[in-house]
Amino acid sequence: MAGYKKVVMSDSELSEVLCPKQRTYEEVLKQKQDEEGHETATTSKQTHVEYTVLKLYQSSKEPTLLRMKHISFLKNAVTHLNEAYECLDCSRPWLCFWILHSLAILGERLSKEEQSKIVGFLARCQSPTGGFGGGPGQYPHLAATYAAVNALCTIGTREAYNTIYRKSLKKFLSSLRGEDGSFAMHENGEADIRGPYCALAAAKLTNVYTPDMFKGTAEWIGKCQTWEGGFGGSPGMEAHGGYAYCGIASLVMLGRTELCHLPSLLRWIVNKQMRLEGGFQGRTNKLVDGCYSFWQGGSFPLISAILSNQDKSLNVSDHWLFNQEALQEYILVCSQNPHGGLLDKPGKNRDIYHTCYTLSGLSIAQNSPIRTIVGTKSLNRVELIHPTYNLQMNAANKALEYFLSLPIPFD
Ligand SMILES: [Zn+2]
Repeated sequence: MAGYKKVVMSDSELSEVLCPKQRTYEEVLKQKQDEEGHETATTSKQTHVEYTVLKLYQSSKEPTLLRMKHISFLKNAVTHLNEAYECLDCSRPWLCFWILHSLAILGERLSKEEQSKIVGFLARCQSPTGGFGGGPGQYPHLAATYAAVNALCTIGTREAYNTIYRKSLKKFLSSLRGEDGSFAMHENGEADIRGPYCALAAAKLTNVYTPDMFKGTAEWIGKCQTWEGGFGGSPGMEAHGGYAYCGIASLVMLGRTELCHLPSLLRWIVNKQMRLEGGFQGRTNKLVDGCYSFWQGGSFPLISAILSNQDKSLNVSDHWLFNQEALQEYILVCSQNPHGGLLDKPGKNRDIYHTCYTLSGLSIAQNSPIRTIVGTKSLNRVELIHPTYNLQMNAANKALEYFLSLPIPFD
């Protein structure tokens, strides 16, 4: 086995590490020599993305949020979606949430009539046995339930809140817990870490939560943390940004964050921010993707809160523990469609899922305790979000306040 090389960096190597965006194309190409002589589909795709992103950075002017373009793209999507969305026919409450939440982050709302129509539509997705399905008449599903509750809380009217049958919601959520504390996504469905997150978020927001609904769940989630430090979908699976967010946010909601080995999570997650691109990858050796701006970025305020709870003298709370400017640059320079809507990476199509999660990530990246806004503040500033639920902060607080005024329903 070859011995380890002693790492001594020249000034130019050091400046490349510190300022990767200053690199020329030739220098990016030269990096391929670090592939240990084995070019693979993964390494060549990575080089291609770096080329494309670097070109954009080198030709870009001041990064600016195309707010009005995004707003009109989103408003149009309420009534007009192209055939590419056909596969989401069983995820229609998600479509409502992505549009409403993206608009809320941009400081915009739909008209009262449009909001009321969406409430009526979501009411038709609700199952008589509790929970929401992916469309009218569909079986209830935890992911659709989370999306519907979040959409209704974003609308935030009495009509929206009172649409939720809390008693049957509680019954539905309770029915999905397995003996080991895991949650099935629907009756007889697959169990993965999205389950506890969706169930907890819906239960906490609507005040139907009781500890016995989640017996053994925190321990089950703890088992999903992998050797890399992130969380997998279930014990033994690969660490992944979306699952890591569900894992840590669930432990926060359960008040059991001691079950997460935080130094390992932190080491894994900081290494998911790409050195040149500035955005996040979802898993080791994968490409940057705009939606992980939230799925990875959203864990940082939670980690920061856990760290400051552990040690009040630790001054960790002024900024998040990732490069907030670099993420904002990736979102504003590389992830915006010039006609509105945001996307995974340059060359990909815009869609409302990526619009929602890049904007959610933008909000996280701007809103550390000491605010950090790239570009002109008045143009680029977006609304604060609640990192546990991914709801606009006022919408989350208003919903929590309303439902806390109601009694927890009996079984
Ligand atoms: Zn994505």
